Amino acid sequence: MAIVKAVNLTKVYNPDTVPVHALRDASLEIEKGEFTSIVGPSGSGKTTMLNMLGGLDKPTSGHVEINGTNITKMKDSKMIDFRLKNIGFVFQHYNLIPVFTARENVSFIMLLQKQDKKAMQKRADELLDKVGLADRKDARPGQMSGGQQQRVAVARALASEPKFILADEPTANLDSSAAMNLLDIMQKMNDVQNVTFVFSTHDQRVIDRARRVITMVDGAIYSDEYQKAKEYDD
Ligand code: ADP
Ligand code: ADP
Repeated sequence: MAIVKAVNLTKVYNPDTVPVHALRDASLEIEKGEFTSIVGPSGSGKTTMLNMLGGLDKPTSGHVEINGTNITKMKDSKMIDFRLKNIGFVFQHYNLIPVFTARENVSFIMLLQKQDKKAMQKRADELLDKVGLADRKDARPGQMSGGQQQRVAVARALASEPKFILADEPTANLDSSAAMNLLDIMQKMNDVQNVTFVFSTHDQRVIDRARRVITMVDGAIYSDEYQKAKEYDD
């Protein structure tokens, strides 16, 4: 069974004033362990698609299933809890909490799930080790580079043991070497732990690293292809 299934999604913003057709009957399925990029020109609907897949917004018509559960009908209060358990998010602007250290930013999600404090700390430390930030655990976002902040965001996204990770233009604000470093880490998590990633991008170097490339044009799925990904070096 697909982890994520989008069925005939249509999204019209401002239906009563100046309607914008952001998604037009778009369907896709993501299987466990995939490393998929959603690409397309600016305005083609990538963010809208990710917002629908993550249950951050509802389609005008069509529906989204996560692990067989139709989230489109779910009440907002239930959705918050469901999202926390099932989906990890990585955003273009990192969205870390500025007054928290790296460790606190990663633990925060587990705190919401009322996990044991010691186990929480241990898991946060392990995740920060995995993203190469063993020596930056007590740093706050303002003391870290963009690349380091985004690696904290990836560690945070994994903290709740989600079914999959959605990343909206995760490398958009990173220089080339930080972007490739982030991709290395994501690709390795995918290889070694079978972590499922769906990320949007319009950066060709990032697209080259994906195993599956879904291209959107004008809110519709234009093509969906598997490719041999460029491998990370190590
Ligand atoms: P992409 O991520 O590919 O750049 P988006 O999903 O952000 O595309 O946008 C798709 C279309 O929907 C664009 O025309 C955009 O201007 C429009 N759009 C996105 N969000 C909103 C919104 N909240 N209200 C109105 N129009 C929106
Ligand atoms: P370990 O036990 O060595 O830490 P795990 O197999 O538990 O390794 O995976 C490490 C992290 O990756 C965990 O947070 C887990 O929830 C997450 N993970 C594993 N599989 C997936 C997947 N298919 N999609 C998203 N996250 C995953």
